[in-house]
Amino acid sequence: MQDSEFVDGVLSFIKSSPTPFHAVEQMKGQLQKNGFEQLKESDAWQLKTPGKYYVTRNDSSIIAFTLGSGLVEHGFRMVGAHTDSPCLKVKPNPEIIKNSYLQLGVEVYGGVLLSTWFDRDLSLAGRVNFVNDKGEVGNALVDFKKPIAVIPSLAIHLNPEVNENNNINKQQHIPPVLMKLPDEGASPDFREMLLLVVQKQYPDLAAEKVLDYELAFYDTQAPSVVGLHKDFIASARLDNLLSCYIGLISLLQAGTDQNCLLVCNDHEEVGSSSAAGAQGQFLRSVLERLCPSPEDLARAIDQSMMISADNAHGVHPNYADKSDSNHGPVLNQGPVIKVNCNQRYATNSETSAAFRYLCEEADVPVQSFVVRTDMSCGSTIGPITASGIGVRTIDVGVPTFAMHSIRELAGCWDGYYLYRVLREYYR
Ligand SMILES: [Zn+2]
Repeated sequence: MQDSEFVDGVLSFIKSSPTPFHAVEQMKGQLQKNGFEQLKESDAWQLKTPGKYYVTRNDSSIIAFTLGSGLVEHGFRMVGAHTDSPCLKVKPNPEIIKNSYLQLGVEVYGGVLLSTWFDRDLSLAGRVNFVNDKGEVGNALVDFKKPIAVIPSLAIHLNPEVNENNNINKQQHIPPVLMKLPDEGASPDFREMLLLVVQKQYPDLAAEKVLDYELAFYDTQAPSVVGLHKDFIASARLDNLLSCYIGLISLLQAGTDQNCLLVCNDHEEVGSSSAAGAQGQFLRSVLERLCPSPEDLARAIDQSMMISADNAHGVHPNYADKSDSNHGPVLNQGPVIKVNCNQRYATNSETSAAFRYLCEEADVPVQSFVVRTDMSCGSTIGPITASGIGVRTIDVGVPTFAMHSIRELAGCWDGYYLYRVLREYYR
Protein backbone atom coordinates (compact mmCIF):
# COMPACT_ATOMS: atom_id res chain seq x y z
CA MET A 1 0.00 0.00 0.00
CA GLN A 2 1.35 3.43 -0.99
CA ASP A 3 1.04 6.49 1.23
CA SER A 4 -1.60 8.15 -1.01
CA GLU A 5 -3.69 5.00 -1.00
CA PHE A 6 -3.31 4.90 2.78
CA VAL A 7 -4.53 8.50 3.17
CA ASP A 8 -7.54 7.85 0.90
CA GLY A 9 -8.39 4.85 3.06
CA VAL A 10 -8.22 6.95 6.25
CA LEU A 11 -10.47 9.65 4.79
CA SER A 12 -13.12 7.21 3.65
CA PHE A 13 -13.02 5.16 6.90
CA ILE A 14 -13.52 8.23 9.09
CA LYS A 15 -16.20 9.67 6.82
CA SER A 16 -18.18 6.44 7.07
CA SER A 17 -17.74 6.24 10.86
CA PRO A 18 -19.64 9.11 12.51
CA THR A 19 -20.10 7.05 15.73
CA PRO A 20 -18.36 4.05 17.39
CA PHE A 21 -21.24 1.85 16.15
CA HIS A 22 -20.51 2.86 12.59
CA ALA A 23 -16.74 2.43 13.07
CA VAL A 24 -17.27 -1.13 14.29
CA GLU A 25 -19.63 -1.79 11.38
CA GLN A 26 -16.96 -0.57 8.94
CA MET A 27 -14.32 -2.74 10.58
CA LYS A 28 -16.59 -5.80 10.51
CA GLY A 29 -17.14 -5.29 6.78
CA GLN A 30 -13.40 -5.16 6.05
CA LEU A 31 -12.66 -8.15 8.31
CA GLN A 32 -15.37 -10.25 6.66
CA LYS A 33 -14.09 -9.31 3.23
CA ASN A 34 -10.67 -10.58 4.30
CA GLY A 35 -11.81 -13.95 5.56
CA PHE A 36 -12.31 -13.24 9.27
CA GLU A 37 -15.18 -15.21 10.80
CA GLN A 38 -17.59 -13.60 13.23
CA LEU A 39 -17.84 -15.08 16.74
CA LYS A 40 -20.63 -14.27 19.19
CA GLU A 41 -19.92 -14.01 22.90
CA SER A 42 -23.09 -16.03 23.55
CA ASP A 43 -22.02 -19.03 21.39
CA ALA A 44 -19.69 -21.92 22.23
CA TRP A 45 -16.51 -21.28 20.24
CA GLN A 46 -14.93 -23.94 18.04
CA LEU A 47 -11.76 -22.32 16.79
CA LYS A 48 -9.45 -23.68 14.14
CA THR A 49 -5.73 -23.08 13.80
CA PRO A 50 -4.80 -21.36 11.60
CA GLY A 51 -7.87 -19.15 11.77
CA LYS A 52 -9.07 -15.54 11.65
CA TYR A 53 -11.91 -14.32 13.88
CA TYR A 54 -13.62 -11.27 15.33
CA VAL A 55 -16.12 -10.60 18.08
CA THR A 56 -17.97 -7.42 19.10
CA ARG A 57 -19.48 -6.14 22.32
CA ASN A 58 -22.30 -3.56 22.45
CA ASP A 59 -21.77 -3.10 18.68
CA SER A 60 -19.25 -0.42 19.67
CA SER A 61 -16.15 -2.43 20.68
CA ILE A 62 -14.42 -5.07 18.60
CA ILE A 63 -11.65 -7.63 19.01
CA ALA A 64 -10.19 -9.29 15.91
CA PHE A 65 -7.44 -11.87 15.93
CA THR A 66 -5.49 -14.36 13.87
CA LEU A 67 -4.54 -17.69 15.39
CA GLY A 68 -1.29 -19.28 14.35
CA SER A 69 0.40 -22.00 16.31
CA GLY A 70 1.79 -21.96 19.83
CA LEU A 71 -0.39 -19.35 21.52
CA VAL A 72 0.75 -20.46 24.98
CA GLU A 73 4.42 -20.44 24.00
CA HIS A 74 4.43 -17.26 21.91
CA GLY A 75 1.47 -15.20 23.13
CA PHE A 76 -0.30 -12.51 21.11
CA ARG A 77 1.05 -9.46 19.38
CA MET A 78 -1.69 -7.03 20.37
CA VAL A 79 -2.66 -3.56 19.23
CA GLY A 80 -5.23 -1.46 21.10
CA ALA A 81 -7.15 1.67 20.13
CA HIS A 82 -10.50 3.28 20.91
CA THR A 83 -13.58 3.78 18.76
CA ASP A 84 -15.15 6.74 20.59
CA SER A 85 -14.50 10.48 20.28
CA PRO A 86 -15.78 13.45 22.27
CA CYS A 87 -19.14 14.63 20.95
CA LEU A 88 -22.64 15.85 21.79
CA LYS A 89 -25.22 13.12 22.48
CA VAL A 90 -28.99 13.59 22.34
CA LYS A 91 -30.83 13.40 25.69
CA PRO A 92 -33.80 11.00 26.17
CA ASN A 93 -36.44 13.77 26.24
CA PRO A 94 -34.65 16.10 23.88
CA GLU A 95 -37.29 18.43 22.44
CA ILE A 96 -36.74 22.06 23.42
CA ILE A 97 -39.18 24.58 21.97
CA LYS A 98 -37.99 28.14 22.47
CA ASN A 99 -38.67 31.38 20.60
CA SER A 100 -40.37 29.43 17.78
CA TYR A 101 -37.41 27.09 17.20
CA LEU A 102 -37.01 23.36 17.73
CA GLN A 103 -33.78 22.46 19.47
CA LEU A 104 -32.47 19.20 20.91
CA GLY A 105 -31.06 18.91 24.40
CA VAL A 106 -27.60 17.32 24.40
CA GLU A 107 -25.16 15.81 26.87
CA VAL A 108 -21.46 16.47 26.47
CA TYR A 109 -19.63 13.17 25.90
CA GLY A 110 -15.99 13.34 26.98
CA GLY A 111 -13.69 16.36 26.82
CA VAL A 112 -15.26 18.25 23.92
CA LEU A 113 -13.49 21.42 22.73
CA LEU A 114 -16.86 23.14 22.69
CA SER A 115 -16.04 26.38 20.87
CA THR A 116 -15.28 24.36 17.72
CA TRP A 117 -18.83 22.99 17.54
CA PHE A 118 -20.40 26.37 16.79
CA ASP A 119 -21.44 27.33 13.24
CA ARG A 120 -20.92 23.83 11.82
CA ASP A 121 -23.28 21.96 9.53
CA LEU A 122 -24.22 19.17 11.91
CA SER A 123 -25.83 15.84 11.26
CA LEU A 124 -26.91 13.07 13.57
CA ALA A 125 -26.06 9.35 13.69
CA GLY A 126 -26.04 6.37 16.03
CA ARG A 127 -28.07 3.38 17.15
CA VAL A 128 -31.87 3.30 17.34
CA ASN A 129 -33.72 0.60 19.31
CA PHE A 130 -37.27 -0.10 18.17
CA VAL A 131 -40.13 -2.58 18.27
CA ASN A 132 -41.37 -4.01 14.96
CA ASP A 133 -44.82 -5.04 13.68
CA LYS A 134 -44.42 -8.52 15.24
CA GLY A 135 -43.68 -7.11 18.67
CA GLU A 136 -39.96 -7.96 18.42
CA VAL A 137 -37.33 -5.56 19.69
CA GLY A 138 -34.48 -4.73 17.33
CA ASN A 139 -31.94 -2.06 16.59
CA ALA A 140 -30.45 -0.36 13.57
CA LEU A 141 -27.69 2.10 12.80
CA VAL A 142 -28.96 5.36 11.41
CA ASP A 143 -27.25 8.30 9.84
CA PHE A 144 -29.18 11.41 8.79
CA LYS A 145 -26.16 12.22 6.54
CA LYS A 146 -27.53 15.67 5.61
CA PRO A 147 -26.79 18.75 7.74
CA ILE A 148 -29.90 18.98 9.90
CA ALA A 149 -28.78 21.23 12.74
CA VAL A 150 -26.47 24.05 13.75
CA ILE A 151 -25.27 25.70 16.97
CA PRO A 152 -25.10 29.35 15.94
CA SER A 153 -22.56 31.62 17.69
CA LEU A 154 -23.79 34.70 19.43
CA ALA A 155 -22.85 37.78 17.38
CA ILE A 156 -19.75 39.57 18.67
CA HIS A 157 -21.83 42.77 18.98
CA LEU A 158 -23.85 41.07 21.73
CA ASN A 159 -20.78 39.62 23.42
CA PRO A 160 -17.92 42.09 22.82
CA GLU A 161 -15.50 40.30 25.21
CA VAL A 162 -15.88 36.94 23.46
CA ASN A 163 -12.31 36.88 22.11
CA GLU A 164 -10.90 37.47 25.59
CA ASN A 165 -13.31 35.35 27.56
CA ASN A 166 -15.51 32.81 25.81
CA ASN A 167 -17.60 31.23 28.56
CA ILE A 168 -19.77 28.47 27.15
CA ASN A 169 -22.51 27.15 29.42
CA LYS A 170 -23.08 23.49 28.52
CA GLN A 171 -26.75 23.45 29.48
CA GLN A 172 -27.69 26.80 28.00
CA HIS A 173 -25.53 27.53 24.99
CA ILE A 174 -25.10 24.32 23.00
CA PRO A 175 -28.50 22.77 22.17
CA PRO A 176 -28.41 22.61 18.35
CA VAL A 177 -31.19 24.35 16.41
CA LEU A 178 -33.07 22.02 14.05
CA MET A 179 -35.85 24.11 12.62
CA LYS A 180 -38.10 27.12 12.80
CA LEU A 181 -41.47 25.77 13.85
CA PRO A 182 -44.28 26.30 11.35
CA ASP A 183 -46.83 27.49 13.92
CA GLU A 184 -47.23 28.48 17.59
CA GLY A 185 -48.69 25.28 19.00
CA ALA A 186 -46.48 22.80 17.09
CA SER A 187 -44.86 20.16 19.33
CA PRO A 188 -42.69 17.83 17.25
CA ASP A 189 -41.87 14.40 18.70
CA PHE A 190 -38.23 13.43 18.14
CA ARG A 191 -38.93 9.69 18.40
CA GLU A 192 -41.53 9.96 15.65
CA MET A 193 -39.04 11.84 13.47
CA LEU A 194 -36.53 9.06 14.12
CA LEU A 195 -39.06 6.37 13.28
CA LEU A 196 -39.51 7.87 9.81
CA VAL A 197 -35.76 7.74 9.25
CA VAL A 198 -35.53 4.09 10.37
CA GLN A 199 -38.50 3.13 8.19
CA LYS A 200 -36.98 4.87 5.20
CA GLN A 201 -33.46 3.45 5.68
CA TYR A 202 -34.63 -0.07 6.66
CA PRO A 203 -38.09 -0.77 5.18
CA ASP A 204 -37.59 -4.55 5.75
CA LEU A 205 -37.25 -4.16 9.50
CA ALA A 206 -40.89 -3.01 9.80
CA ALA A 207 -40.10 -0.74 12.76
CA GLU A 208 -43.30 0.49 14.43
CA LYS A 209 -42.13 2.45 17.43
CA VAL A 210 -38.80 3.88 18.56
CA LEU A 211 -38.08 2.80 22.13
CA ASP A 212 -34.69 4.39 22.62
CA TYR A 213 -31.51 5.55 20.96
CA GLU A 214 -27.88 6.60 21.35
CA LEU A 215 -27.33 9.38 18.88
CA ALA A 216 -24.48 11.81 18.48
CA PHE A 217 -24.14 14.97 16.44
CA TYR A 218 -21.26 15.16 14.00
CA ASP A 219 -19.80 17.60 11.49
CA THR A 220 -20.84 16.88 7.89
CA GLN A 221 -17.71 18.49 6.47
CA ALA A 222 -15.83 15.58 4.93
CA PRO A 223 -12.25 14.82 6.03
CA SER A 224 -9.68 16.31 3.67
CA VAL A 225 -6.01 16.72 2.91
CA VAL A 226 -4.85 20.30 3.56
CA GLY A 227 -1.65 22.35 3.46
CA LEU A 228 0.37 23.99 0.70
CA HIS A 229 2.13 20.70 0.06
CA LYS A 230 -0.76 18.49 1.19
CA ASP A 231 1.03 17.76 4.47
CA PHE A 232 -1.98 17.33 6.74
CA ILE A 233 -5.21 15.41 7.24
CA ALA A 234 -8.00 17.59 8.67
CA SER A 235 -10.90 15.61 10.09
CA ALA A 236 -13.20 14.93 12.97
CA ARG A 237 -12.45 11.88 15.17
CA LEU A 238 -8.80 11.44 14.15
CA ASP A 239 -8.55 10.67 17.89
CA ASN A 240 -8.81 7.76 17.67
CA LEU A 241 -10.29 6.40 14.43
CA LEU A 242 -6.93 7.00 12.79
CA SER A 243 -5.39 4.37 15.11
CA CYS A 244 -8.37 2.02 14.64
CA TYR A 245 -7.89 2.18 10.89
CA ILE A 246 -4.13 1.67 11.11
CA GLY A 247 -4.59 -1.30 13.45
CA LEU A 248 -7.21 -2.77 11.15
CA ILE A 249 -5.29 -2.59 7.87
CA SER A 250 -2.15 -3.87 9.59
CA LEU A 251 -4.05 -6.86 10.94
CA LEU A 252 -5.61 -7.58 7.54
CA GLN A 253 -2.11 -8.11 6.18
CA ALA A 254 -0.90 -10.14 9.14
CA GLY A 255 -1.29 -13.71 7.93
CA THR A 256 -1.40 -16.51 10.48
CA ASP A 257 2.29 -17.14 11.22
CA GLN A 258 1.91 -15.12 14.41
CA ASN A 259 -0.98 -14.82 16.83
CA CYS A 260 -2.07 -11.24 16.21
CA LEU A 261 -4.86 -9.32 17.92
CA LEU A 262 -6.52 -5.93 17.58
CA VAL A 263 -8.83 -4.56 20.27
CA CYS A 264 -10.77 -1.34 19.71
CA ASN A 265 -12.75 -0.25 22.77
CA ASP A 266 -15.56 2.23 23.23
CA HIS A 267 -15.76 4.67 26.15
CA GLU A 268 -12.08 5.64 26.40
CA GLU A 269 -13.01 9.32 26.37
CA VAL A 270 -15.08 8.90 29.53
CA GLY A 271 -12.64 6.76 31.50
CA SER A 272 -13.18 3.26 29.99
CA SER A 273 -15.33 2.05 32.89
CA SER A 274 -18.12 0.18 31.05
CA ALA A 275 -18.87 -3.31 29.75
CA ALA A 276 -17.56 -2.32 26.32
CA GLY A 277 -14.74 -0.13 27.67
CA ALA A 278 -11.17 -1.20 28.35
CA GLN A 279 -12.05 -1.76 32.01
CA GLY A 280 -14.96 -4.02 31.04
CA GLN A 281 -12.92 -7.22 30.80
CA PHE A 282 -13.87 -7.78 27.14
CA LEU A 283 -10.27 -8.56 26.21
CA ARG A 284 -9.67 -10.69 29.32
CA SER A 285 -12.81 -12.70 28.56
CA VAL A 286 -11.66 -13.40 24.98
CA LEU A 287 -8.16 -14.38 26.16
CA GLU A 288 -9.63 -16.71 28.80
CA ARG A 289 -11.67 -18.47 26.13
CA LEU A 290 -8.59 -18.91 23.95
CA CYS A 291 -6.51 -20.19 26.90
CA PRO A 292 -8.97 -21.84 29.31
CA SER A 293 -6.31 -23.15 31.70
CA PRO A 294 -5.14 -20.39 34.11
CA GLU A 295 -1.55 -21.53 33.73
CA ASP A 296 -1.73 -21.43 29.92
CA LEU A 297 -3.31 -17.99 30.09
CA ALA A 298 -0.60 -16.66 32.39
CA ARG A 299 2.10 -18.08 30.11
CA ALA A 300 0.48 -16.64 26.97
CA ILE A 301 0.08 -13.20 28.54
CA ASP A 302 3.67 -13.21 29.70
CA GLN A 303 4.76 -13.83 26.10
CA SER A 304 2.45 -11.14 24.69
CA MET A 305 2.87 -7.44 24.10
CA MET A 306 0.32 -4.66 23.62
CA ILE A 307 0.91 -1.57 21.48
CA SER A 308 -1.72 0.90 22.64
CA ALA A 309 -2.16 3.44 19.83
CA ASP A 310 -3.81 6.74 20.64
CA ASN A 311 -2.96 10.16 19.27
CA ALA A 312 -0.29 12.35 20.88
CA HIS A 313 0.04 16.14 21.09
CA GLY A 314 2.32 17.67 18.48
CA VAL A 315 4.19 20.80 19.61
CA HIS A 316 2.01 23.72 18.48
CA PRO A 317 4.07 26.58 17.00
CA ASN A 318 1.73 29.21 18.50
CA TYR A 319 1.78 27.59 21.95
CA ALA A 320 5.23 26.01 22.02
CA ASP A 321 5.59 26.79 25.76
CA LYS A 322 2.88 24.18 26.43
CA SER A 323 5.35 21.44 25.48
CA ASP A 324 8.59 20.25 27.04
CA SER A 325 11.18 21.71 24.68
CA ASN A 326 12.97 18.35 24.35
CA HIS A 327 9.79 16.33 23.87
CA GLY A 328 7.56 18.25 21.50
CA PRO A 329 6.73 15.88 18.64
CA VAL A 330 6.56 17.42 15.16
CA LEU A 331 3.91 16.42 12.62
CA ASN A 332 5.19 14.17 9.83
CA GLN A 333 8.32 13.20 11.75
CA GLY A 334 7.06 9.82 12.86
CA PRO A 335 4.96 8.09 15.50
CA VAL A 336 5.44 9.10 19.11
CA ILE A 337 6.35 6.96 22.12
CA LYS A 338 4.42 8.35 25.10
CA VAL A 339 6.21 8.20 28.44
CA ASN A 340 4.96 9.07 31.93
CA CYS A 341 6.73 7.64 34.97
CA ASN A 342 3.54 8.09 37.01
CA GLN A 343 1.96 5.44 34.76
CA ARG A 344 -0.51 7.67 32.96
CA TYR A 345 1.14 5.85 30.03
CA ALA A 346 2.10 2.19 30.33
CA THR A 347 5.38 2.48 28.39
CA ASN A 348 8.48 1.03 30.03
CA SER A 349 12.04 0.84 28.74
CA GLU A 350 11.55 -2.74 27.55
CA THR A 351 8.45 -1.98 25.47
CA SER A 352 9.80 1.31 24.14
CA ALA A 353 13.03 -0.42 23.13
CA ALA A 354 10.99 -3.03 21.27
CA PHE A 355 9.03 -0.29 19.50
CA ARG A 356 12.17 1.65 18.58
CA TYR A 357 13.63 -1.52 17.12
CA LEU A 358 10.45 -2.09 15.08
CA CYS A 359 10.70 1.47 13.76
CA GLU A 360 14.28 0.81 12.68
CA GLU A 361 13.23 -2.40 10.95
CA ALA A 362 10.41 -0.56 9.17
CA ASP A 363 12.74 2.36 8.33
CA VAL A 364 10.46 4.83 10.09
CA PRO A 365 11.46 7.83 12.27
CA VAL A 366 10.23 7.83 15.86
CA GLN A 367 9.72 10.59 18.46
CA SER A 368 9.10 10.81 22.21
CA PHE A 369 6.48 12.66 24.19
CA VAL A 370 6.67 13.56 27.86
CA VAL A 371 4.32 16.20 29.25
CA ARG A 372 5.84 19.33 30.84
CA THR A 373 6.83 18.43 34.39
CA ASP A 374 4.59 21.20 35.78
CA MET A 375 1.50 20.03 33.87
CA SER A 376 -0.77 17.03 34.38
CA CYS A 377 -0.76 14.25 31.83
CA GLY A 378 -3.63 12.67 29.90
CA SER A 379 -4.06 8.91 29.79
CA THR A 380 -5.51 6.22 27.55
CA ILE A 381 -6.40 2.52 27.36
CA GLY A 382 -2.73 1.43 27.66
CA PRO A 383 -2.41 1.61 31.47
CA ILE A 384 -5.95 0.23 31.95
CA THR A 385 -5.25 -2.81 29.78
CA ALA A 386 -1.79 -3.30 31.31
CA SER A 387 -3.19 -3.30 34.84
CA GLY A 388 -6.29 -5.35 33.92
CA ILE A 389 -4.51 -8.10 31.96
CA GLY A 390 -0.92 -7.85 33.16
CA VAL A 391 0.44 -7.59 29.63
CA ARG A 392 3.58 -5.57 28.88
CA THR A 393 2.40 -2.47 27.09
CA ILE A 394 3.60 0.60 25.25
CA ASP A 395 1.61 3.76 24.56
CA VAL A 396 2.29 5.29 21.18
CA GLY A 397 0.40 7.55 18.80
CA VAL A 398 0.42 9.84 15.83
CA PRO A 399 1.19 13.48 16.75
CA THR A 400 -1.79 15.78 16.19
CA PHE A 401 -2.99 19.33 16.71
CA ALA A 402 -6.37 20.39 18.09
CA MET A 403 -7.12 17.14 19.90
CA HIS A 404 -10.85 16.95 20.76
CA SER A 405 -11.74 19.76 18.35
CA ILE A 406 -14.56 19.00 15.93
CA ARG A 407 -11.81 19.11 13.30
CA GLU A 408 -8.43 17.78 14.34
CA LEU A 409 -5.20 17.84 12.34
CA ALA A 410 -2.61 15.12 11.78
CA GLY A 411 0.34 14.72 9.41
CA CYS A 412 -0.30 12.62 6.31
CA TRP A 413 2.94 10.71 6.80
CA ASP A 414 2.72 9.77 10.46
CA GLY A 415 -0.27 7.46 10.10
CA TYR A 416 1.43 5.76 7.17
CA TYR A 417 4.62 5.39 9.23
CA LEU A 418 2.70 3.85 12.12
CA TYR A 419 1.01 1.46 9.70
CA ARG A 420 4.44 0.33 8.45
CA VAL A 421 5.57 -0.27 12.05
CA LEU A 422 2.46 -2.25 13.00
CA ARG A 423 2.66 -4.27 9.80
CA GLU A 424 6.24 -5.17 10.77
CA TYR A 425 5.12 -6.03 14.32
CA TYR A 426 2.31 -8.31 13.18
CA ARG A 427 4.65 -10.01 10.74
ZN1 LIG B 1 -7.76 9.18 22.26
